[in-house]
Amino acid sequence: MHESIQDCITAINRLRKERRAVILAHTYQPAEVQDIADYVDDSYGLSAKAAAVKDADLIVFCGVQFMAETAAILNPGRKVIMPDPSAGCPMADMITAEKLRAFKAKHPGAPVVCYVNSTAEVKAESDICCTSANAVKIVKSLGDAPEIIFVPDQFLGKFVEKQLGRRLLLWEGCCPIHHNLGSDCIARMKAEYPDAKVMVHPETPPDAQAAADYILSTGQMIELVKNTKDKRFLVGTEDGIIHALRKAAPHCDFILISPTLRCPNMKKTTLPKIRQALASGETVISVDPLIAAKAKKAIDAMLEVSRRP
Ligand code: SF4
Repeated sequence: MHESIQDCITAINRLRKERRAVILAHTYQPAEVQDIADYVDDSYGLSAKAAAVKDADLIVFCGVQFMAETAAILNPGRKVIMPDPSAGCPMADMITAEKLRAFKAKHPGAPVVCYVNSTAEVKAESDICCTSANAVKIVKSLGDAPEIIFVPDQFLGKFVEKQLGRRLLLWEGCCPIHHNLGSDCIARMKAEYPDAKVMVHPETPPDAQAAADYILSTGQMIELVKNTKDKRFLVGTEDGIIHALRKAAPHCDFILISPTLRCPNMKKTTLPKIRQALASGETVISVDPLIAAKAKKAIDAMLEVSRRP
């Protein structure tokens, strides 16, 4: 039987009340998913929201696995489900706990900072997590530690190195979506739109960052455009952000720098899958309690440093 989008939204709205569910969506999710979510935010914002959920029994996480795992770790009293639990993150899979242990063994005593885009097992092997919004502050909080391990995103790590003027021990992982954005592509778009400001995510390579006016997390991009006097932006991050940016600043023109900036995993969530997940309550994301307890220490350490002035 054919079901219209409106029928699907009506069913989701009925089920979310019956199930006492809260729907969280990352800013890279499809526009229609962002529109039905209770909260739309970046990884850090969603981590904080997940930790604060009290008046719901169920968290429906529209994003990728590591994000839903983080929500489950931070809120063990709530059931966390994903509309499509096969939505993974290739960058998170570029390092395993075993590989990280071997890296640590070569640098005894070096604290480990792990980007939140990592598995629960890798977080459990780390001292503190970070997001793209707070990575500089987190590394800075480690003071003058002679060696600091930073995993898994080498480009976010290089961004932090540049901001702090120090070297880190970087893992050679990257986001395959942001990795392809080069300064040549930015130059071509700048020639076409000379009046536009360029903003890119710190997961992009250093040459793309060097060609940009702003290097920002998705949450920081949204904050910037809310108060901007600029009229047009070339955007160098995953294309779901365009919808969130247009909602935040309808008076501005946002142009994706390259059509390759589209993460297939982020696009696995659909309205019918959300309705199905709410109806069945299946596709639960769970983390081994011992791993979760260790990973939570690294996430809590990040949240504590982030709250500092
Ligand atoms: S955009 Fe990149 S880092 Fe984000 S989920 Fe997709 S592959 Fe992972």
